[in-house]
Amino acid sequence: METLSVIVPCYNEEAVIAESYGRLKKVLDSMPSIDSEIIFINDGSKDRTAEMLSEIASQNKNVKVLHFSRNFGHQPAVTAGIHYCTSDMAVIIDSDLQDPPELIPQLIETLKRENANVVYCVREKRQGESFFKKLSARLFYRSMNYLSEVNFPLDTGDFRLIDKQVMAEFKKFREKGKYIRGIISWIGFKQVPFTYKREARFAGETKYPLSKMIQFAATAMLYFSKKPLKLATTLGFITVLIGILFAIWTFLGEIIGYTHAESGWSSIIILVIFFGGVQLLTVGVLGQYIGILFDEIKDRPEYIVEKEENW
Ligand code: UDP
Ligand code: MG
Repeated sequence: METLSVIVPCYNEEAVIAESYGRLKKVLDSMPSIDSEIIFINDGSKDRTAEMLSEIASQNKNVKVLHFSRNFGHQPAVTAGIHYCTSDMAVIIDSDLQDPPELIPQLIETLKRENANVVYCVREKRQGESFFKKLSARLFYRSMNYLSEVNFPLDTGDFRLIDKQVMAEFKKFREKGKYIRGIISWIGFKQVPFTYKREARFAGETKYPLSKMIQFAATAMLYFSKKPLKLATTLGFITVLIGILFAIWTFLGEIIGYTHAESGWSSIIILVIFFGGVQLLTVGVLGQYIGILFDEIKDRPEYIVEKEENW
């Protein structure tokens, strides 16, 4: 029989776990031809999430739980789910029911019909999310596509169905800073879209405050693009060019007499600030990449599992 895992990262989700599990179970029970399991990853929650997951696991042997030793983040949690998964297919889904579990049978059907390796879910509408979140997400996905060497599908989260072959390739990725949707897209094979309406969060609050969103965007950009480095070079060229033109202008000015060096106070200040800014910016870009090298070279684990249940 074919096997399916549903990978669900959870961080402080006590308000949604019960409902989320209930709806997932109902959907999985409605597909008797598939042997399915749920993999919950408790990403160092500080509320009752851990107890609730352990309780569910003690009642249902098809629910497996990984408890992290602390909060490592959404992407490491999903990564752990994929690393531990041995099924033929896996669905990655949020615990807050923004991605309706009821779509899972349709995802599987699409995978079979299209003979695909990945069915990724494209958000047609997003409900119950702030204007700022939607705008920043839109800008993010579009600038990622501009910056990156790979073309990513727009408005796609991690909600998707992937097959064994893709998981096997994913497990070979050694990079610690993972931008999962980018990596899966990068892996290739046959990937087909599935459009859906993203619901509002069932309960609780977003676990992605602005600081985490910025960090997420930075990982995505720095791991998938060298364009910021090229931008630094381009800026360098442009400023050198400005410098040369300015020198010529001043030189001619002295000869022909339309300018005098002493009158150039404001232009000097402007240039000092401008060149200083360009230098700091480019050094900053270099620093970002060095920071990544630093993190990667330490080769620390991406996550630490404290306890495994039902494995
Ligand atoms: N999440 C996690 N660790 C974190 C942050 C979030 O495991 O550090 C989980 C969270 O429990 C949820 C999913 O990642 O299942 C998506 O988070 P959230 O719904 O808060 O993000 P949003 O949908 O607002 O972007
Ligand atoms: Mg959410």
